Amino acid sequence: MYSRLEHPPVSYEDYRPFLDPGLADQLAAIAQEMGQLRVLHLNSTATGGGVAEILQSMVPLGNSLGIETERIVINPDAAMFFQVTKKIHNLLQGAEGELSTEELDTYFGCIQRVADDMRSKGLTADVWFVHDPQLLPLARFLPKKEGETWIWICHIDLTTPNMSVLDALMPLTQDYDQLIFSQAAYVPQDLGDKVPVLIAPPAIDPLTIKNIPMDLPQAQKMVRAMGIDTDRPLITQVSRFDQWKDPWGVIDAFRIAKESVPGLQLALLGLSQATDDPEGAAVFKTVVDHAGGDPDIHLYFDPLEMPASVDEVVNAVQVVSQVLMQKSTREGFGLTVTEGMWKGKPVIGGDAGGIRVQIDDGVSGFLVSSPEECAQRLVELLRDEALSARIGEAAKESVRQRFLLPRLALDYLTVARTHVNGRIPAVSGD
Ligand code: UDP
Repeated sequence: MYSRLEHPPVSYEDYRPFLDPGLADQLAAIAQEMGQLRVLHLNSTATGGGVAEILQSMVPLGNSLGIETERIVINPDAAMFFQVTKKIHNLLQGAEGELSTEELDTYFGCIQRVADDMRSKGLTADVWFVHDPQLLPLARFLPKKEGETWIWICHIDLTTPNMSVLDALMPLTQDYDQLIFSQAAYVPQDLGDKVPVLIAPPAIDPLTIKNIPMDLPQAQKMVRAMGIDTDRPLITQVSRFDQWKDPWGVIDAFRIAKESVPGLQLALLGLSQATDDPEGAAVFKTVVDHAGGDPDIHLYFDPLEMPASVDEVVNAVQVVSQVLMQKSTREGFGLTVTEGMWKGKPVIGGDAGGIRVQIDDGVSGFLVSSPEECAQRLVELLRDEALSARIGEAAKESVRQRFLLPRLALDYLTVARTHVNGRIPAVSGD
């Protein structure tokens, strides 16, 4: 009912060149204090989507800091589980509808059996980081042992949730010692004051294949192998095919922009990998229809048809594109926005959720609320190389300062320390 994932090791020293010295030293110091603790990160999919992306880097980073850190992914036994949790995700992001008794039974029943399995196998840790709503009931079904700290991290956009599901699920947060949200605006109003809340926006790993510098000729070669003409301008959105990412609006914006920028091409890259997202194929089909066979709209869904690994392809497409988009209408925090900005590219984001925190409008990117506005910004950026370069440079520096993985690791460990404090020596100067 659950698996332990192995990730290749990394060295903390490799992160230091990207970090302000204060942050780097603080992280090393706190890690040294917490070195005798065992930490688990738990989520619902091994690959695909932002949380899997963060954890595959956070876990080796924890180990490289000297903290025994493990990654657990659940394998629920009911076929309908991910259908239900995707519905929960959509409802929490504001979709209409409600959960049936049967759906709630599937959700709670699966997590109960996962918890039973964990108990019978004696899974233990000092600090449990439980990610996203899929696993929220775990703390209720696997009551914590003396000395354990349980932290629930919610990565989704709760700006306008469907209240029926919020009311059904939020009482489960009370079984945790600490809650973490990506933004203050997402914290539900009537959570109560029993469980402390930390705001910690997610971050990207500058050392992964997806984010390390890639030479333009190498990137162009890969992109040509995907059928894209590298002699003509390219704009791209990298995203799961999902209703909240508005792939249809991206196509509409492309069509308007193309009237002013002849030869423009669009790539939509949603290489399906997330086992906890069963809706991708259906959304993809509607996007294919919306594209209407336009040879300059390139749609990618199947990772097996790519000329290289998904991470390399994402990197290459981001490097080759003149402008990147993330035209979401809901977005807890768009890792793709940060990944694009880290490559020094201008990113046009939907004026929604976490993207508002990631992009300083007009300085490190643009925020838009309609396909027309998106098209206008596209044309401006495609016509004005100096503007693109200025925005791209500001974007990269803002990611370096605020959204690289060690900052997130520091946030997580700092808040965990407030709970395990009694069992570790205090840091001098604190
Ligand atoms: N991603 C990918 N291949 C794709 C589409 C997305 O590797 O074809 C990655 C993307 O690079 C990012 C993550 O999946 O690291 C998506 O995270 P984000 O926070 O943007 O959105 P989520 O999928 O979590 O809603």
